[in-house]
Amino acid sequence: AVRVRFAPSPTGFLHLGGLRTALYNYIFAKKHQGSFILRLEDTDQTRLVPGAAENIEDMLEWAGVPPDESPRRGGPAGPYLQSQRLALYAQAAEALLKSGAAYLCFCSPQRLELLKKEALRNRQTPRYDNRCRSLSQAQVAQKLATDPKPAIRFRLDGEAPAFQDLVYGWNRHEVASVEGDPVILKSDGFPTYHLASVVDDHHMGISHVLRGSEWLVSTSKHLLLYQALGWQPPHFAHLPLLLNKDGSKLSKRQGDIFLEHFAATGFLPDALLDIITNCGSGFAESQMGRTLPELIAQFDLSRVTCHSALLDLEKLPEFNRLHLRRLVGDETQRCQLVGQLQALVEEAFGSQLQDREVLDPAYVERIILLRQGHICRLQDLVSPAYSYLWTRPAVGRAQLGAISEKVDIIAKRVLRLLEGPGTNLTQDVLNGELKKLSDGLEGIKHSNVMKLLRVALSGQQQGPPVAEMMVSLGPKEVRERIQKVLC
Ligand code: GLU
Repeated sequence: AVRVRFAPSPTGFLHLGGLRTALYNYIFAKKHQGSFILRLEDTDQTRLVPGAAENIEDMLEWAGVPPDESPRRGGPAGPYLQSQRLALYAQAAEALLKSGAAYLCFCSPQRLELLKKEALRNRQTPRYDNRCRSLSQAQVAQKLATDPKPAIRFRLDGEAPAFQDLVYGWNRHEVASVEGDPVILKSDGFPTYHLASVVDDHHMGISHVLRGSEWLVSTSKHLLLYQALGWQPPHFAHLPLLLNKDGSKLSKRQGDIFLEHFAATGFLPDALLDIITNCGSGFAESQMGRTLPELIAQFDLSRVTCHSALLDLEKLPEFNRLHLRRLVGDETQRCQLVGQLQALVEEAFGSQLQDREVLDPAYVERIILLRQGHICRLQDLVSPAYSYLWTRPAVGRAQLGAISEKVDIIAKRVLRLLEGPGTNLTQDVLNGELKKLSDGLEGIKHSNVMKLLRVALSGQQQGPPVAEMMVSLGPKEVRERIQKVLC
């Protein structure tokens, strides 16, 4: 059975790069009726960020790609937090010690620091000199007497095994000579990434490891560990990096790549899933507007290439517009959007909502139906340009008088226009009628009629087209606003 995992370290909140790795795992699992597991790699206790673990799981759920097994959900292979699995790592390290594949290391942090400094001074890559490899049994026993908690290092011997990565093809990375033997279990009993990852992937029955390409080189090391432990390794597929459109590293500093930010600013999960898959490979053709079920149906791991995916976030509003429209077309979803917009209006205009009728679901739904396709996010509908929808403007007579002296005549004519068949006027028809109305008023410019109407309806000099405002507000509300400006 296919079992895949997303294994972030809770050292930060979930961002687009992480979501992409999670998503490919999720899609792959669903495509093969498999399980998608969330494992939190919290072994570096010094780098933990408060709230990150919760955020990662919250955001996966928000994005619509919830894990089947996770710290919160539990599952048959738990616990899903590495800090709660220390016994398993100790057990594996013990087995490696026993077979001679690992050894105790008593080198002090000071000595290691010195080695590092010296290497850097000589412009060399810091490398552990494998000193403790050659300790005799007697020496080990003697050292244990004064240092009962040594670290455990893995003996990197022999050829690095070649392996076939499902994305990058055949790979072999020389590991033995580069950094020296790696620590697998620290003196505090916590494992390092390599051991923990291998032990967990084995015990959790992971069939395919889909992870970022930055881990490709480590895979050789992992394979040596599998070999030494006598375990069958999973398949590996490394995913090319997600980069900014100029090829630079996706910046976490700007704060605008975190899922929380997108959720709070009205972006839809579907739009995010769409844009992060659209900029990469894995599909026969690039196409905007795919939904998650479509992503699952169309994804093909063998189509993932080694090229980095370049993300153009400026296109996100366009993706969002597309998905918002789709949701509006679905009655159940639209109902939810109505609730969301009501909440947004309350939040933005709460104290100014003289007329609670604006929160009437029928009105809110009508606004959504009219404006879909023109807006990218629901939030746009509470921006200043659309405030006229929710609050009545306070317009002074003098303000209108400055536009035209004939305020009353114009207002009365417009009221008359709205009396008759006016209830169902479309924007086009209204524009024609308003033009006729101006033509029938001697000495009054059409542009001033429109200006006057705009101010009377919205209190603003600029904004959406006048006829659009009239249609959105509906004849009753337009009549009331115009009546108010009459002397
Ligand atoms: N904890 C690693 C990370 O943060 C996981 C790498 C892996 O998937 O093996 O990316």
